[in-house]
Amino acid sequence: MTPISGLVDPETRALLEPLLAKLARPGMNNPDDPDSPAGDAESPNLDHDALVKAAARDTRTAGQRGHDALKTGLRHLLGSGVLGSHRGLPVTAIITMTLQQLEDASGVATTAGGGIVPIRDALRMAEHAHPVLCLFDHHGRPLHLGRSKRLATADQRLALIASSRGCTRPGCDAPATMTAVHHIREWNHGAGTDITNEDLACDACHALVKDGPAGWRTRTAPPESEHPGRTEWIAPAHIDPDRQPRINHRHHLDDLLAQALQRARARRDADLRRHRECITRPDADHEAPEDGDVP
Ligand SMILES: [Zn+2]
Repeated sequence: MTPISGLVDPETRALLEPLLAKLARPGMNNPDDPDSPAGDAESPNLDHDALVKAAARDTRTAGQRGHDALKTGLRHLLGSGVLGSHRGLPVTAIITMTLQQLEDASGVATTAGGGIVPIRDALRMAEHAHPVLCLFDHHGRPLHLGRSKRLATADQRLALIASSRGCTRPGCDAPATMTAVHHIREWNHGAGTDITNEDLACDACHALVKDGPAGWRTRTAPPESEHPGRTEWIAPAHIDPDRQPRINHRHHLDDLLAQALQRARARRDADLRRHRECITRPDADHEAPEDGDVP
């Protein structure tokens, strides 16, 4: 849930009033009632008996009905296509989930704007959508989708939104909706437009990448690194004298949490093993725990 509060100007209120009068009517657009009518309440095509019955069992508060009406209005706005495209993709909700999440129907999916949506809600939103299947390698990098065109295609941008989730410069929290596709090795240096040579960067971070001592550099993390295939950023020497390549963890906190949990479980298992050995062979010489013990 995202809290919201504030003021709207008189014109916004004047626009909201008829919208709510129409969409927030008791019985209309009730997400908890599968038989609740949607659309135009005054249309002759609408089943008025069904609406009267839906209104009678509608227990939502006026505030909740207003919320559900706003959601319906936004869905109509996005579905109408009047908003055109944003950075090469139709203006629409982009929600990413793994195959495991889809099969389990549990957990949370991520949105391109940096939000999270319960899988149950994401699946309901996807009922009228065209799902896009994107394949990734074991390190979560999109598989080859090479193109020879200068501009990244919509497919490539979707794949990068699913894998990188936002700006890749370390510490930047710009979500995918605020980023552009960036060439890791610059196009004018002879690099191609290929998904292995592209990643997301917001406009401010992209502007930092340039030739010369004050510029940042980007590269693909080598296979032996902890996060192979991810985009590493190298700060100029006046910011980082060691010029250590770094990746952005801001949009991948779930990965860090999973790694920390895995390490904690491995430590606990190793402790348990030592403890059992102490009990079963109390006189044996037990090795002191070593750091190298734990993967
Ligand atoms: Zn950024």
